[in-house]
Amino acid sequence: MGMHPVCSADAPRSSTRRGGLPAAYVAAGGRAINCKRGVQGAMTRVLDGNAVGQTIREDLETGVETLADAGVTPGLATVLMSDDDASETYVRMKHRACADLGIESIHREIDPTDAPETLFDTVSALNEDSAVNGILVQMPVPDHVDKTRVLRSITPEKDVDAFHPENVGRLVAGDARFKPCTPHGVQQLLAAADVDTSGADAVVVGRSDIVGKPMANLLIQKAVGGNATVTVCHSRTADLASKVGQADIVIAAAGVAELIDGSMLKEGAVVVDVGVNRIEDDSERGYTLVGDVEFESAREKASVITPVPGGVGPMTITMLLYNTIKAAGLQAGVDLPALADLADLEVSA
Ligand code: NAD
Repeated sequence: MGMHPVCSADAPRSSTRRGGLPAAYVAAGGRAINCKRGVQGAMTRVLDGNAVGQTIREDLETGVETLADAGVTPGLATVLMSDDDASETYVRMKHRACADLGIESIHREIDPTDAPETLFDTVSALNEDSAVNGILVQMPVPDHVDKTRVLRSITPEKDVDAFHPENVGRLVAGDARFKPCTPHGVQQLLAAADVDTSGADAVVVGRSDIVGKPMANLLIQKAVGGNATVTVCHSRTADLASKVGQADIVIAAAGVAELIDGSMLKEGAVVVDVGVNRIEDDSERGYTLVGDVEFESAREKASVITPVPGGVGPMTITMLLYNTIKAAGLQAGVDLPALADLADLEVSA
């Protein structure tokens, strides 16, 4: 067998790197990864999503400066139609991240008991507002609002979550305008850790429109950060353990606390944990956050692993900032070479 596709700290890159952003991944690979020795004696690298995200955000500043030179300030609008604490927190974090980077952000709050048309009228007004480059409706919306209609109401050019069917179609076709933030963040984390996806057996656990499906789509693209052989598992998968056990790369996005443990993993697997689950306890906060992976046992088998919290979460917000800046560039006709993405890079046949 030739070189293992994923254990690639020393593997040659299959890409020709250009532009500001990819260079940052190399830097991030050097300082965002914390190594621990597992029982087998091999080094396990624990990826720090905050550090990788911060490195990318520093590169995004170049994009903001380029836009400023052209007289453009990128703008993100969030719409919240919920009383949910977690949703409010997510929206607040997004605004804070925008402010840190020099992105204008505006917020529209709609009473969850209002008629659906209040939400659709709000989105229509934002579609028409030239100061707004990106629009995000925080999910979930109340049951009396048609979620599909919400996703289709945002003009595709401002759809920075990339959930509109036009953007989904473009992603599948290998011509993404925007990539959905969480799977894109995972792809960037893998790149930062020098994980070579090409030829790897990847298992994605979860088939949601937000994470699982677009993650699988990114991994099968004939592009840098893709070229994997992908299996998608879900709630009806007959034997999850056997599928996971064959994987060089496991992306866990089921929303089931500690569904995957070390005994299920292949030795040396790369494990990315997207899951965020609350386990109630006696702590002051009343709960602890855990992922879909049982971290301690998985760390003993994995070569690379992401923690929860502090792994994928910060990358999701970073890629939202990325999409907003990209949207501003596209709408203003400003070229942003600093935003060259992995998939824009050349890959050999
Ligand atoms: P979802 O509920 O929409 O989808 C979960 C998927 O997992 C479904 O496709 C289901 O078939 C599958 N699944 C459920 N139980 C399973 C099982 N026992 N075995 C195999 N597959 C199973 O959830 P989602 O929106 O895709 O989110 C998944 C998780 O990721 C959640 O914990 C969520 O909080 C988290 N999340 C985190 C971020 C982040 O930025 N860190 C972003 C989005 C979602």
